[in-house]
Amino acid sequence: MADALILGGGLAGAAAAVLLSRAGKTVHLIERETGPHHKICGEFLSIEARHHLVELGIDPARLGAVPIDRVRVIAGDAQIEAKLPFTALGLSRHVLDEALLDRAQGAGARVERGVRVLGMDAMAVRTSHGERSGTSILLATGKLPVREERKDSGHKDADPYVGFKMHYRLSGPARAQLEATVQLTLFDGGYAGLQMVEGGFANLCLIVRRSRLTRIGRSWSDLQAMLSSLPRGGEWLAEAEPLFARPVTIGNLSYGEVLRRRPDDGIFRLGDQAGMTASLTGDGMALALRSAFLAVACLRSGEDAQTYRQRHRAEIGRQLTRAMALQRALEQPLLRSLGVGLLRAWPGLLTYLASATRVTERPAEHALERAL
Ligand SMILES: Cc1cc2nc3c(=O)[nH]c(=O)nc-3n(C[C@H](O)[C@H](O)[C@H](O)COP(=O)(O)OP(=O)(O)OC[C@H]3O[C@@H](n4cnc5c(N)ncnc54)[C@H](O)[C@@H]3O)c2cc1C
Repeated sequence: MADALILGGGLAGAAAAVLLSRAGKTVHLIERETGPHHKICGEFLSIEARHHLVELGIDPARLGAVPIDRVRVIAGDAQIEAKLPFTALGLSRHVLDEALLDRAQGAGARVERGVRVLGMDAMAVRTSHGERSGTSILLATGKLPVREERKDSGHKDADPYVGFKMHYRLSGPARAQLEATVQLTLFDGGYAGLQMVEGGFANLCLIVRRSRLTRIGRSWSDLQAMLSSLPRGGEWLAEAEPLFARPVTIGNLSYGEVLRRRPDDGIFRLGDQAGMTASLTGDGMALALRSAFLAVACLRSGEDAQTYRQRHRAEIGRQLTRAMALQRALEQPLLRSLGVGLLRAWPGLLTYLASATRVTERPAEHALERAL
C-alpha cells in the first residue's frame, strides 16, 4: 500500500505527487484519461501559478507559453483595456498537465492511467479496475464530484453553468489584436475568455448559465452565433478556423468553497474538489497548485485532513469570496453596466481588480517547500 493514493492527475494531483515523491513518500496516482487531453480552462497562467510551477521544476516558457500582460474587457459596445499587474502566460492544459504528470513519474510516483474512480471512504477507493488503497487519500478529480458522491457532494446550484472550449487558428489581423492580451467578453448569464496559447493558436473558453443556454438554443453553433452577434468581441469568429471536431464541454459547474459544505471524512480534497474560484479571474490553477503545497505540508508534519481544511480556508477563502463576488456582480445587467461605467472612467481599476482577486504569495511556505 502506498503512503499516498492520489485520485486525479490534473494540476493539483500531479503537483502533490511531485512534492510527496520528492519527500521520499511512496505515491500511487490514478488518472482516468489514458493520454494527453484537452480540458475546460481559459489557459491563463497567473503569476502565482507560474511561481508554483517553477518550484515543481516546470518552466512554462520552455513549453512554449506566450506572455500576456494586458486585459481587455468587452461589454455591450464598451471596450476597456488595462495593463495587468504582472505578466501572465498562455499555455494549453493539453501540454501543461502532461508535463506535470511526467514530472510526477520522474520524481518516482506510480502513475496508473485509464482508471476511473467511482467512490471512496477514508480507507479504500473503488475504481473501474477494482479496489485501490493508500495510507492517506488525496482527492483531486477536478470540477465535478465522483460518481458515488454526486448526491451529497455540496456541488449544488439551481442554475449551474455549462462550460465550452475551442482552439482556433485566427486570421492575421485578429491575431495581432490579441497579442499579449486576454480578452473577456461579458454577456447576460456568462462570459467568454479569449487569448493565445502555444503554437500560435487561440483558446476560447466560455461559461453560460444553463437557463440562458436554453434560451440561446443549446447547440455550439447557436452559442457562436450569439457571440458573433455581440456589438464587439465576436467579429474574429467569422474568419477563425476551429481546431477540434467539436468543443470540449462540461455541465453542472458550480463555483464556491466546496470543503465548507462537506463533512470531514479524513480525505484530503485538493484543487477544484476543495473549492472552485471564479474562472473569470484566471487564478484557479494557482489555487489548485497551492492546495497541493498545503496538503503536502500538512501530511509531512503529521496534520490531519481537518487541519488541512482549516489552513486551506485561511489561505484561500478570502480570494475565493472576492473573486466570486466579482463574477456574480458582472453577470447582473444592472451591476455590469455600473461596473463597466466605472471601468470606463478609471481603466486602472481593472489592474487593481486583477490584483485584488488573486491568492496572495506565501514566501515562508514556499521556502519550506523548496527545501524538500
Ligand atoms: C470555464 C473555466 C475557465 C477557467 N479558466 C482558468 C484560467 O484561465 N486560469 C486558471 O488559472 N484557472 C482557470 N480555471 C480553473 C482551472 O481550470 C481549475 O481550477 C484547475 O484545473 C483545477 O485543477 P484540478 O487539478 O483541481 O482539476 P483538473 O485540472 O480538472 O484535474 C482533474 C483530473 O482528474 C481526472 N479525473 C476526473 N474524474 C476522475 C475520476 N473519476 N477518476 C480518475 N480521474 C479522474 C481528470 O481527468 C483530470 O485529469 C477555469 C475554470 C473554468 C470552469
